[in-house]
Amino acid sequence: MIPSAFSYHRPSSVQEASSLLAQFGDDGRAIAGGHSLIPMMKLRLAEPGHLVDLGGIADLKGIRADGGDIVIGAMTTQHDVIGSGLLAGKIPLLREAALQIADPQVRYMGTLGGNVANGDPGNDMPAVMLCLGATYHVTGKGGERRIPAREFYQGAYFTALEVGDVLTAVRIPVPPAGHGAAYEKLKRKVGDYATAAAAVILTMGGGKVASCSIGLTNVAETPLWAEEAAKILTGSTLDAATVKRAVAAAEAITAPASDARGPAHYRTKMAGVMLTRALARAKANARG
Ligand SMILES: Cc1cc2nc3c(=O)[nH]c(=O)nc-3n(C[C@H](O)[C@H](O)[C@H](O)COP(=O)(O)OP(=O)(O)OC[C@H]3O[C@@H](n4cnc5c(N)ncnc54)[C@H](O)[C@@H]3O)c2cc1C
Repeated sequence: MIPSAFSYHRPSSVQEASSLLAQFGDDGRAIAGGHSLIPMMKLRLAEPGHLVDLGGIADLKGIRADGGDIVIGAMTTQHDVIGSGLLAGKIPLLREAALQIADPQVRYMGTLGGNVANGDPGNDMPAVMLCLGATYHVTGKGGERRIPAREFYQGAYFTALEVGDVLTAVRIPVPPAGHGAAYEKLKRKVGDYATAAAAVILTMGGGKVASCSIGLTNVAETPLWAEEAAKILTGSTLDAATVKRAVAAAEAITAPASDARGPAHYRTKMAGVMLTRALARAKANARG
């Protein structure tokens, strides 16, 4: 299908983009890589009268270290995330998850900011951000504010972003050296969204889990942070009985839709399987 008519705007600064979005209100939308928004427009599920293209704002691109954090500009593409030596060394989980998004064509255009701002529970990066304890930098009518990823997602396509807001960057605390991490995703075919997926990051000390964080993708209206499951695992050796209890706690917070990817019960169980696999792999690649 062909999208409905819209006006195109290409601001050169975040302030200009924010002012335009505030001016257009519900009739305006930011566009980044366009690989979620344009399909929605073609299906007429979104019919913005004004598109504000963030592609001309140089400040929104790039990956840099800032103290103990890594800051990634919102317009950094998924391809750039995969190619970053800094991220590969400090937060390999990001590269691993980005490689499981769609296909190279989508990843050349799709941005990290668009992936986390979109609010689609099928997007892979939001659960990874919950797992990593990321914070989103947002510029809006009242200036800049920072929103923890764990407080950002409120429902399907419903986030803490307000009219006039531009998500400018993602800030991620660098996990401790020697940590282990994994992203396990079940999909029907290459390039598909997750039937269920699990992100795990953990540290080990003396053969026991010293810290653990878990994110789940596409098994509820929002990405999930499985806090209780991670608590159960902390202090354990990841023995089979404890993993089983933690997986049950993670499954208990899921509420997936029954859809073409399978009935709800199946998707909940697949979230448990993905979590079990991610835990085993994270433990195997952790030191300590
Ligand atoms: C065939 C196909 C397969 C795909 N498979 C997957 C997959 O397996 N996993 C996955 O995670 N994704 C998948 N995607 C989606 C892809 O990753 C998108 O690129 C991503 O979801 C959105 O990023 P974008 O830069 O394209 O954003 P856009 O499509 O431009 O924008 C998406 C939404 O976010 C808003 N937005 C974007 N940037 C900002 C910003 N900086 N500030 C405020 N609001 C903003 C827009 O207004 C819009 O509402 C797939 C897409 C396609 C076409």
